[in-house]
Amino acid sequence: KFIAFEGGEGAGKSTQARMLVDALRARGLLVDLTREPGGTPGAEAIRALLLDPPGEGWGAEAEALLFAAARADHVARRIRPAIERGEWIISDRFVDSSRAYQGGAGALGDETITALHSIGSGGLRPDLTILLEAREEHVAARLAARDGDNSDAIGGRDADYHRAVAAAFRRIAEDNPHGFAVIDAEGDPETVHARVMAAIAPLLEG
Ligand code: C5P
Repeated sequence: KFIAFEGGEGAGKSTQARMLVDALRARGLLVDLTREPGGTPGAEAIRALLLDPPGEGWGAEAEALLFAAARADHVARRIRPAIERGEWIISDRFVDSSRAYQGGAGALGDETITALHSIGSGGLRPDLTILLEAREEHVAARLAARDGDNSDAIGGRDADYHRAVAAAFRRIAEDNPHGFAVIDAEGDPETVHARVMAAIAPLLEG
């Protein structure tokens, strides 16, 4: 089974992904935890280029292609092999991050991102995508506690950009209700984790 966590910065994706992995392993399941951009040596090298761009930074097209190249390597070398071995793989972000950031909030649009994804990753979809949603003020408080004022690893993006990301995630989830669980990410980690476990319960049976 393949599960992706999505949401903006500070929604608690990494914490919830880890808690889900621990819960599944406690049931004796084989589970791999990974992330995007990243997850393989090549994709982690691309992540470093994305987060700390050389020179004057990436243009929208180059950036989207780098995300897509990282994903292609990640899918080929880590995600598909895990699925083929019959294991669980949990990814902190996947293609819907590209659709929300580079497609929805950025300049490229959904068709282009979806086309890039189908070239590099064969259009692979998670069995379930968990969208963690929290109000802006909640996220701001969390990020301030975590990172000081360095809340966005990619520079030069403002609050409007992040509002557009959140709106795009919501639209993507609404267009694909069967593939998504939209989860209220406010509340302490245990409370949110209980919501995540309720959402994945059908996958544990099937
Ligand atoms: O998930 P994480 O916070 O590690 O993501 C690293 C950075 O990459 C963040 O600044 C996030 O906004 C950005 N990102 C992006 N487009 C994606 C995925 C992540 O801009 N498709």
